[in-house]
Amino acid sequence: MRIYLSLSIAACTLLAACAHTPPSDDARTLAIVGATVVRPELDAAHAAVPDTTVVIRGERIIAVGPSATTKIPDGAERIDGKGRWLIPGMIDGHVHFFQSGNLYTRPDVADFNSTVPYAQEVARNKSRLAATFKVWLASGVTSVIDVGGPFWNFDVRNAANNSSAAPRVATTGPLISMVARPQLDLGDPPIVKIESAEAARALVAREMPHKPDFIKVWFVREPNDDLAKKEAIVKATADAAHAAHVRLAVHATELDTAKAALRAGADYLVHSVFEDPIDDEFIELMRKNHALLCPTLFVTNGYRWALSNQWQATPEEQRLADPQILVAMHDLERIPKDKIPARAAKLMADHKTPPVPTVSLQNLKKLEDAGIPIVMGTDAGNIGTLHGPSVFREMALMHDAGLTPLQILRSATTNGARAFGNPDLGAIAPGKLADLILLDADPLSDVANLSHAERVIKGGVVYDPKSLIDSIR
Ligand SMILES: [Zn+2]
Repeated sequence: MRIYLSLSIAACTLLAACAHTPPSDDARTLAIVGATVVRPELDAAHAAVPDTTVVIRGERIIAVGPSATTKIPDGAERIDGKGRWLIPGMIDGHVHFFQSGNLYTRPDVADFNSTVPYAQEVARNKSRLAATFKVWLASGVTSVIDVGGPFWNFDVRNAANNSSAAPRVATTGPLISMVARPQLDLGDPPIVKIESAEAARALVAREMPHKPDFIKVWFVREPNDDLAKKEAIVKATADAAHAAHVRLAVHATELDTAKAALRAGADYLVHSVFEDPIDDEFIELMRKNHALLCPTLFVTNGYRWALSNQWQATPEEQRLADPQILVAMHDLERIPKDKIPARAAKLMADHKTPPVPTVSLQNLKKLEDAGIPIVMGTDAGNIGTLHGPSVFREMALMHDAGLTPLQILRSATTNGARAFGNPDLGAIAPGKLADLILLDADPLSDVANLSHAERVIKGGVVYDPKSLIDSIR
């Protein structure tokens, strides 16, 4: 007991964070012994620290050091880390819990109401939350940011906070949108069309009592838009959010809307620019705002694969996705032809292989080289982009863009923590929250090895990925 106390006091003298929440004497102690600890915040020469022991007390890391000299408290549970790699828990900077990833989840894009009514789909997503939380954890993702959905998104955050097996959830309320999506309105719409600065301020005011982690704008371009008028709405939204010390996230996928969003005050662009090559002015605007950018490289093709009935689960999805959703991904094979919406019917008839997102990949490389902080995120929940293991599709594309495994891991940890807004996440150091993944293969030699989690630890609690998935079958 004396050792426990002296360790926690030693750690706390160094860390102001501990002063407010000293670990109780009976907090469980856990040691991961002899692993190669990966520190994504460091450069390539220093990021991998072999033969390291990490000691966890309660929900926090209390010591990190060479195995030869790091004391393991008496009675600590031990996990053998030899021949394994320990990384910070990953963070997906862009998800939507109101969507499931299946065909029925976006009737505004493809209307399958005659097969599965949208209300039934949303009811499924609510009742299946506990399982959705587990697929995230099983995939090694210990925190996610929901960047827009109905007001019940705030209940999702509460449910995650009160769940024994869930990622940490940051959340955003309804999108302040430039376009209407009445197909998604069941009384608590995720997307609300806003046509004036006053209306924007009013919706921000309605969201504030729920303590949103971001305010989100859906800056969708339409033909013959008055871009200046829309920029003014985004500016009013940004000003209202910032006045309440809440950051502004913006969906803007064209170069002109993305620049307008940044001029208006965006802190977080939740997509890259898809259509046009970015330029120096865009990079300067990103720098000026200290903005973060989440490229979401896979999501567009996710729709194309799924709606053309060519979507196939990756091995990681077969292992780690919600089995209910995996089964539903092939429903186009059984839906009668007359019930298939025109958009899907056309994609099925064309049967084209979705294109490589060349411009997005080139833009990502330019941003990374310019030192803009990149946040890994999937836009999971959209059709074809499944909660959990879609992170591995996204990170494979980031590698195709020319990012190194270390840069990709940094986007999913160090920078993800910045997006999440919690400095206690995303790193393996004393005082940080004990959100960790133990891998059986080197994530710095091949980004695909990030899917090799043997154990996932969140807040000091150890999970076996396979048991998590088995529990939702
Ligand atoms: Zn999104």
